[in-house]
Amino acid sequence: MFKLTFARKIMAAAACAAVLISPAQAAEKVYTLKLAETWPTNFGVFSEPARRMADLANKMSNGRLEIRIDTANKHKSAFGVFDMVRAGQYDMGHSASYYWKGKVPNTLYFTTMPFGMTATEQYGWFYYGGGMELMQKVYEPFNLMSFPGGNTGVQMGGWFQKEINSVEDLEGLKMRIPGFAGEVLAKLGANPTNIPPGELYTSLERRTIDALEWVGPSMDLRMGFHKIAPYYYTGWHEPGTELQFLVNKRSFDKLPADLQEILTTAMRVAAYDMTIQSYHESGQNWATMKAEFPNVEVKSFPPEVLAALRKANDELLAEHAANDELAKEILDSQAEYMGVVRQWTDIADRAYLNSFE
Ligand code: CA
Repeated sequence: MFKLTFARKIMAAAACAAVLISPAQAAEKVYTLKLAETWPTNFGVFSEPARRMADLANKMSNGRLEIRIDTANKHKSAFGVFDMVRAGQYDMGHSASYYWKGKVPNTLYFTTMPFGMTATEQYGWFYYGGGMELMQKVYEPFNLMSFPGGNTGVQMGGWFQKEINSVEDLEGLKMRIPGFAGEVLAKLGANPTNIPPGELYTSLERRTIDALEWVGPSMDLRMGFHKIAPYYYTGWHEPGTELQFLVNKRSFDKLPADLQEILTTAMRVAAYDMTIQSYHESGQNWATMKAEFPNVEVKSFPPEVLAALRKANDELLAEHAANDELAKEILDSQAEYMGVVRQWTDIADRAYLNSFE
């Protein structure tokens, strides 16, 4: 009798522990992740996604998931985010995939490509067209996960001191333009460079460079380029620049399943939100630029220049694909997806906008 009662007590205590203590402990445990941004402090719309994601994750988890953010001012390594997250020094990063092309060439394709997809088309590719799977395939060997981190939309072709009227005008042109587009311009005789954001204004003002591209009105207004360069060219090189959330795989795996879902959802919502905010701010800021500096002239590159850029672009892409099997798989996937989705864009957005002034 005594034995039975004792056994029951033990079982009751065990049941209590299982029902009351374990979930309670789980519900109280706070997981803290550290995130490093490529951007300096107060960097306009680029500073928003990490903060919005952290705030959402914290609220959705009832305080169980805390994300601490360090800007580049703190960690002093804007382009070291990949390595720091890989090493586990940080659990997460907010940056852009094409900054890592010098380390891992195939990371280049997940930000934006010259003459490539628009933001909407590219989101379709990421989430429904196999893009996310290919991106993971590139990042997995480095113990990293990569997620879309907010889109700037079509970027402007840049600020120029002189007009570009022919392919010859590109020869010797000193221009700040990073990524694949820089390689394309170099093929046509230009001298592309990458200059840190803080030095861009002075470089253009002192004519150390002849031209630069940055983003578009959403980010350009605060830089003041419209005060020192008369020509604002429309874009060809970054039609839908997607920023990136990087996550250390081990840090992610340590989270309980619900917090993993909360984190993933918060990143996706924050990316979507930056995309809208960028569009909003570009509209507002362009109105401001036009009102304050009516002499700024918007120009598009002549058809022969665009044709030459496109030819150089296609030749470089073919080289990339020929040199690397995974690069070929990614580029084929993008080309195939765009081949289908662009036909829809043509009779939808393009037809709508072309049908009236
Ligand atoms: Ca840019």
